[in-house]
Amino acid sequence: MSKIHNFSAGPAILPQSAIDASVEALQNFSGTGLSLIEVSHRSKEYEAVVAEAVQLVKDILNLSADYEVVFLQGGASLQFDMIPMNFLPAGKTAGYVNTGVWAGRAVKEAKMFGDVNVLASSEDKNYSYIPKDYAIPEDLAYFHCTSNNTIYGTELFSFPKTNVPLICDMSSDIFSRPFDANQFDMIYAGAQKNMGPAGTTLVIIKKSLLEKANAKVPTMLNYKVHIDNGSMYNTPSVFAIFVCMHTLRWIKSMGLEAMEVRNKAKADLLYTEIDRNPLFVGTVAAEDRSRMNVNFVLTNKDLEESFLKYCKEKNLSGLKGHRSVGGLRASLYNALPIESVQALVDAMQEFEKANS
Ligand SMILES: *Cc1c(COP(=O)(O)O)cnc(C)c1O
Repeated sequence: MSKIHNFSAGPAILPQSAIDASVEALQNFSGTGLSLIEVSHRSKEYEAVVAEAVQLVKDILNLSADYEVVFLQGGASLQFDMIPMNFLPAGKTAGYVNTGVWAGRAVKEAKMFGDVNVLASSEDKNYSYIPKDYAIPEDLAYFHCTSNNTIYGTELFSFPKTNVPLICDMSSDIFSRPFDANQFDMIYAGAQKNMGPAGTTLVIIKKSLLEKANAKVPTMLNYKVHIDNGSMYNTPSVFAIFVCMHTLRWIKSMGLEAMEVRNKAKADLLYTEIDRNPLFVGTVAAEDRSRMNVNFVLTNKDLEESFLKYCKEKNLSGLKGHRSVGGLRASLYNALPIESVQALVDAMQEFEKANS
């Protein structure tokens, strides 16, 4: 198989160990002689997979005993609804920061259930920066932010200090660097960016927040139901959680400190070339540049099509920017090796020579 450098924004590149384990399990899962996708989710072999995935999340993030970890369905997008349904009571207000398409969708959904205060927004400059000067009112039901803006390529490297319950959408940068997970009341992440295939969403909730949850929520949208049933209230996304478990094993074996070193080296390599090469320019504020999704454009827009074609010839895949912003986007998730970034940088330099 020829080596394709996979810069896809999601679903995205996964560690080879997780792919290999999945291929094997599709033939013979855990010595059962059956395929992973044809066994009961209540078999002891599969229950062990979910238990290990949950434990790996707790271990990697050093979560205290105050936290519950579950794997749900409906993507990160369903969390936009479940959060206000469970945690925004009548008469209270939720605070949001609007830093991009996903944050904006979280706001839109929350407004269907209650009062929302958008404390800050970077919509005025096409989401090219992270707003920093805003206060968080003490009486909010919760404060919601998005740690990495997958589509625009900005990232939050520090989180606000507040007594209000802190909720974060970490879909596209969870496990990419060390951070203090115990400062959050809830963290969620769709698996398909940095943790596994599409089909499951990791949700981490502090027990003290759970105690405040609205009891009158439809069963399938009630966090407590899923937690009380160990991610097995209904049939979970069997295959997706299995791949997450293997990806989490790989993440744990690397450690988040090493992961950050690796991710920083990749991002630095690419941003340095974008800043040096006169054919390219970055699109977001330098201090808010994401290490996961690098957005850039060609200074001469007419060359964009031919650069993307050139990339394809060089086996560089998934570089077209999101349809809502255009340009280019290189996603450098955990599993992407630095050799792939080097191949992209080489292509940018060759393209510069051919076009000057
Ligand atoms: C992709 C993404 C989502 C949406 O995830 P789905 O699983 O497709 O619903 C939400 N938030 C962020 C930050 C994302 O990158």
